[in-house]
Parts: sequence; C-alpha cells; structure tokens
Amino acid sequence: MNKYDVVIIGAGGAGMMAALTLSRAGKSCIVLEKGQHPSTSNAARAGGPSLAGTRLEEEAGAPVSALQLYSRLFRFARGTVDSGLLLACVKSGRKAETILRECGVQMHLTEDLYGTGFRARHFLDTPAPERWDLLCAKLEAYGGKLQLNACAEKLVTEGGKVCGVEVQDQADHSRLIYRAEHVIVASGGYLGNKEMLKEHFADVTVGVLGNRQSDGGGIRMVLEAGGMKERNWGICAGEFGGFHSRMKSRFPGNMRWAMTGGLLVNREGRRFMDEQVLADEPLSVGGELTLRAGTFFAVLDEDFYQGIRQAKSVYEYYGRPSQWTTGASAHDRGPWPFPENLEKDMEEGWAGRFESLKEAAQAFALPGLEETVERYNRMCGEGLDTEFYKSNWLLKPVEKAPFYVFAYEPSAWCTIGGVRTDAFCRALDSKQCPIPGLYVAGVDNGSCYCTPYYDVEGTCLGLAFTSGIVAAEHILHG
Ligand SMILES: Cc1cc2nc3c(=O)[nH]c(=O)nc-3n(C[C@H](O)[C@H](O)[C@H](O)COP(=O)(O)OP(=O)(O)OC[C@H]3O[C@@H](n4cnc5c(N)ncnc54)[C@H](O)[C@@H]3O)c2cc1C
Repeated sequence: MNKYDVVIIGAGGAGMMAALTLSRAGKSCIVLEKGQHPSTSNAARAGGPSLAGTRLEEEAGAPVSALQLYSRLFRFARGTVDSGLLLACVKSGRKAETILRECGVQMHLTEDLYGTGFRARHFLDTPAPERWDLLCAKLEAYGGKLQLNACAEKLVTEGGKVCGVEVQDQADHSRLIYRAEHVIVASGGYLGNKEMLKEHFADVTVGVLGNRQSDGGGIRMVLEAGGMKERNWGICAGEFGGFHSRMKSRFPGNMRWAMTGGLLVNREGRRFMDEQVLADEPLSVGGELTLRAGTFFAVLDEDFYQGIRQAKSVYEYYGRPSQWTTGASAHDRGPWPFPENLEKDMEEGWAGRFESLKEAAQAFALPGLEETVERYNRMCGEGLDTEFYKSNWLLKPVEKAPFYVFAYEPSAWCTIGGVRTDAFCRALDSKQCPIPGLYVAGVDNGSCYCTPYYDVEGTCLGLAFTSGIVAAEHILHG
C-alpha cells in the first residue's frame, strides 16, 4: 500500500510546507526523511524566514509588500533566477505564516540588521524540536505521513514520467518503493558532500554549520532522471564570525575578529577585500568573498585587540559613526557573545600572538604581511584607503606589539545551487521541458536562489517554505 498522491523527499522547510499544504487539501502524501528525528533538518533549527505580506508585519505596523521584497531580491539576483518562481514564492509569504500559525509556532519580527529598509524576518520563537513536532502533529492530523530513517536513493520513472521513489531504510537497510503521481524533492542541498563542495568551490574548506545528511542526493537523483543543473552555486555563509576547521568549540569568541572591519589578508598576506563588506553583509557578498579567498586571516595589534574588548561594542570602539548604519544595527551589541579563550585557540593552531609582524608572518606563512601592514598603516595615517576604499572610520593602524593573527575559513549554514526548475518548481530537462511528475523545492532548487546569497536575512528559509507551497499548489491546481 505504498502508493500516494505525492511523495516528498525531506522533512525540512520546503518538504513540510508542501506536505501540510497538500494534506490539508485532502491529498494523500508521505514525507520521507533520512534522519532519525523529525527535527533533523536545518529548517527545524533555523532562526527564521523572511516573508512578505504577513499578519505579523501588519500587526507590528511595519508591512512589507510582496513587490517590495521581490524587487529587492530580483534586483540583487540580476536576472540569474526564474523571476516567475521568485515572485510566486514571495507572494506565498502569508500562506507560510498561516500554516506556521495553524501549527502553533510562535514568531516575532526581528530588527532590520543589515540595512534593507524593511523588517521581513520572522524569528521562530518556538524552539526546536517542539516547533517541528508541532508541524508533524498537524501533518498527521491532516492525514499526512512522515517516514523517518527513509533515505531516498533513486527516482522511479515509467515512460518518461516520475512515478515513485526507491528508498533504503537507514535502520534495517531494507529497500522499499513508494509510488506516487508526483514527487517533490526537497533534500536541503549538499553541505554534507565534500566532493560536491570541492566540485563547486575547489580546495576550499567550507565549515559545515548545518545538517550533513543533506549530501546532494536529491540533486543527483533529479539529474539522473534527466533534470538539468542551474548555474548558481554558493553558500549561505555563517555570519557569526570567521570559522576554522581546527576550532574545537563551535563559536569561540575569537572567531568574531573577522567581522570587525579591521585588517584582513589572504594566504599571501595581502588584503583582498574592503573589510567592511564582511562586517556589513556577512551572509551574502562578504560570505561569498571569503568563499573565494578560502583561508583568510584577521591581523590586529594590541590597541585594537584591547580597544574592542574594552569598548561596549564594535560600533562604540569606532566612535559610533552616524553614517555606518549596519554598525549601529548589527555591531552595537556586546562584542563577544561567546567566551574568549586565546590560549586555547592558540593551542588549536588557528590563533597566534607575536612580538613582531615578522614572527607572525613566519608562523602563518604570510609572505606579504609586513609590506601589507606598512602600506595599510600609511593609509590609516592619511585617513584614506586607496586600495579598497573602505570607510575611513575603520582605518586603525596595526603598529603596537603584541600582534594577533586569527586564521579563518568560510563556513555555511546551507548550500545554494541545484536543479533548474520553472516558475512552478517543476524540474526541467536540458530542453527546458518539465519532467512529468517531478518538482524540486527548497535549496535543492537552483532557480530561486542566486549567488552570492541574497542580502536579505532570512531569505533562505523564506524561499524554502514558500517554494514548497508553490510546488504543492501547482500539484493541487495546475
Ligand atoms: C542553525 C541554522 C540556522 C539557520 N538560520 C536561518 C535563518 O535564520 N534564516 C534563514 O533564512 N535560513 C537559516 N538557515 C538556513 C535554512 O535553515 C535553510 O536554508 C533551509 O532549512 C532550507 O530548507 P530545505 O527544505 O531546502 O532543506 P532542509 O530544511 O535542510 O531540509 C532537508 C531535509 O531533507 C533530508 N534529506 C536529505 N537527503 C535526504 C534523502 N536522500 N532522503 C530523505 N531525506 C533526505 C534532510 O535530512 C533534511 O531533514 C539556518 C540553517 C542552520 C543550520
């Protein structure tokens, strides 16, 4: 009796929204989840989605229209996503909110941290795992099913139509086929797949902050069934700070130096960016620049190190420049929310304290460091960054020993990039024709996420939720 109207692969943001939409409308559906728990997914643990047109926004007296959010995202994507899909997703914000409310998930609107000019991010107050338990309970109440330990491995096709999924049970390794009229793939990207990360980002270590069960299996299955790849491949970068694979604890305080707007250098010891971009847009453009740099280093002197630690906030340290809007919103809080432990970080091999820059350059093999710092200090003295033109309030010389170096690598909450679809989330073949019966939603869908990742916080989850709804509604109404 493994026959359903719809089989959904992945009980994450997109999968659960699709399942709730379908089962509420009376369709028989099953969600196949590889993990042992309903709340395995990134969505179950995420902060919250950006949504437009919600009741919460109206109630807060801060409405965000679909047009406002769509225009911002589409302009940012510069034509690299499917506009119809993006618009359909953004217009489904209220539906996603309604489902969350019906399930009993509590939310509040967050502040506009990164200067978008509106407050679209809905923070999910109900913590994991309760929040996902609520969604699963509602799914069951609607007659939908969730199958845990069910790793989808292959799409079943007949006469060019996708009509089922072959699954391996993770507990007893038995194999089963679930048949369906429609299959929605929503397996959450490829953060757990080292080969895929290498294929798209070369020999760069990407710190995995999300679920490793998302190993690109969904994308692979769709490509094997005749789907085509989209061209956008990237990450939703970790914005809490720099990451390093040698870090033993997840969020040590010294990871924050990456985001302070101070001097950053690449593996040759040369500057490679306007450091303010990482301070202002860590999830998006700044994160992309770190992905391109691979390993990078924050270099600071004793004045900077002590100054920032003693100031109430990074923004305070720089003298609260009124033009620095993101400084006021994102950097005017206690600088180190995580305990700092320099000695331990030095032992782990990603942090160092040195009496001279020469010593620092030798220890981290940064041949250009001394010359870079000399040039940087000259620009600080002149009050003008003639290399990358960062704001002059960020120009602080690196001259007083001891000197500190922190090595970082890019990190990601989830990946971006996957299958090309049309505006209804239907997977397209290489002739741009929909593959009958096959839909792709969430971050497996390459056509609604651009790279660099959008500069609106919460878009990852927002589009995951809403693309699940778009796919489900196409199945329901055509
Ligand atoms: C800690 C954390 C915080 C985050 N905070 C935010 C935030 O505040 N705002 C925001 O926009 N984004 C945030 N993100 C990112 C966001 O969670 C993701 O973009 C979003 O969850 C993507 O939804 P999805 O449905 O595509 O995938 P997911 O929610 O990751 O779900 C995919 C599911 O598919 C399952 N799966 C994988 N392969 C298979 C298979 N072969 N068979 C069966 N099941 C499979 C996985 O186990 C997983 O449960 C955060 C991520 C993390 C990790």
